[in-house]
Amino acid sequence: MKAMENKVRFYNTLTKKEELFVPNVDGKVSMYTCGPTVYHFAHIGNLRTYICEDIMEKTLRYVGYDVKRVMNITDVGHLSSDADTGEDKMLKGAKREHKTVMEIAKFYTDAFFSDCAKLNIKTPDVVEPATNCIPEFIKMISGLIDKGYAYLAGGNVYFDTSKLKEYYVLSNHSEEELLVGVRDDVEEDSNKRNKSDFVLWFTKSKFEDQELKWESPWGVGYPGWHIECSCISLKHLGEFMDIHCGGVDNIFPHHTNEIAQSESYLGHKWCNYWFHVHHLNDKTGKMSKSKGDFLTVSLLESKGYNPLVYRLFCLQSHYRKPLEFSYENLDNVASAYDKLVNRIASLNKDGEVDKEEFAAYREKFEAALCDDFNTSMAITVLYDMLKAEINDATKFALAESFDQVLSLKLTTAVADQKESIDEELSAFVESKIAERAQAKKEKDFAKADAIRAELLEKGIVLKDTREGTVWSKA
Ligand code: AMP
Ligand code: ZN
Repeated sequence: MKAMENKVRFYNTLTKKEELFVPNVDGKVSMYTCGPTVYHFAHIGNLRTYICEDIMEKTLRYVGYDVKRVMNITDVGHLSSDADTGEDKMLKGAKREHKTVMEIAKFYTDAFFSDCAKLNIKTPDVVEPATNCIPEFIKMISGLIDKGYAYLAGGNVYFDTSKLKEYYVLSNHSEEELLVGVRDDVEEDSNKRNKSDFVLWFTKSKFEDQELKWESPWGVGYPGWHIECSCISLKHLGEFMDIHCGGVDNIFPHHTNEIAQSESYLGHKWCNYWFHVHHLNDKTGKMSKSKGDFLTVSLLESKGYNPLVYRLFCLQSHYRKPLEFSYENLDNVASAYDKLVNRIASLNKDGEVDKEEFAAYREKFEAALCDDFNTSMAITVLYDMLKAEINDATKFALAESFDQVLSLKLTTAVADQKESIDEELSAFVESKIAERAQAKKEKDFAKADAIRAELLEKGIVLKDTREGTVWSKA
């Protein structure tokens, strides 16, 4: 069989340059995404990262790869500082809402996927909560101890970073700078042999009110956050992985620690490409759950925004640049979105697709995406195509094709909107008919007539038949 042409290029955090993507196995991609910590709603910053990862996955599929994507759900072990200090985030959520940790995890996992659905983010092929994988964590930690990469101190198990030739493989910064970055609430753990060592399994520290804990060879306790992604990716994607994704804040310490654990355990290079999305900021800086004051998809909806307008807002900027959120910009995108989907809805899709034009525009669209996922350029190709001298059927077919990646409901939004307006209208009229029937039963004919008149004013005509009242638009 002919080998697949590799044409996707993107910036690899590991090599710190843009590279041609070449998977381990021809035509197949294994991809791992750090999932949400489910102690609160995802904010639209988190969702920017998931939107950009969705674009990556869909681009890879669009150009012909067979992608297997895995995501974890962090429902244990993520402490409020990424460097193993502070309170467990899940426990914090449970206390805040007077619920159990598992209730909190279920509620916010469902909320996360509901937000993803609204943003047209595809659910990964495998989604695995950390609490499902305790035996796998114990196996990897035991292996690390056996190989001399981990040690027991004060009841906890730590990874010994001094055993590595190079620990800071993903970042350019100095050790001191990085350590300060993650420890605003510096609380030195005297059990650690080296400042950069991190916890694989907790027993003693932060143990007292921990709700979820498991038996282990080192005592009853719970896993550290970093070990979960190493184990879950190994479980589902094997020893050699193509792409690992996350937000830039995951580079250190989370992804740095994942590489340390996985490569020490496996004894070889683990993941070839690292993809990181820059942050969504508000006026005060990075949007974060811990700040408390953050924006959610539901909040945008309650203000009247279609969630896909936020998706388009994200696609108009490059994932490797920080993005500042403002309602003013979102309003501009909302009106551009309406114009765009109405323009496409006005196309006459009957007719023959011009195969040559279709192929030419598809190639331009692919080229934009293959150039480090340049989504704003891909959208420019869409606008250029809509303005071009080609027939409507070809334009419509191209819009449908581009939407496999953009996922903005380009060809269906207007019809969906009409349908939902019709549904709303129908529910309203039915409730008025029921109210009128009740008024008639109570011999309140004045009220019954008033309801008929009110509906007529809205363009709805009622007709009483033997089977009941039916309605139509005037
Ligand atoms: P968390 O639920 O906190 O574990 O984060 C889920 C994902 O969102 C991770 O990949 C983070 O790197 C990413 N993330 C966190 N804050 C932001 C932000 N302000 N903008 C973009 N991505 C973010
Ligand atoms: Zn992770």
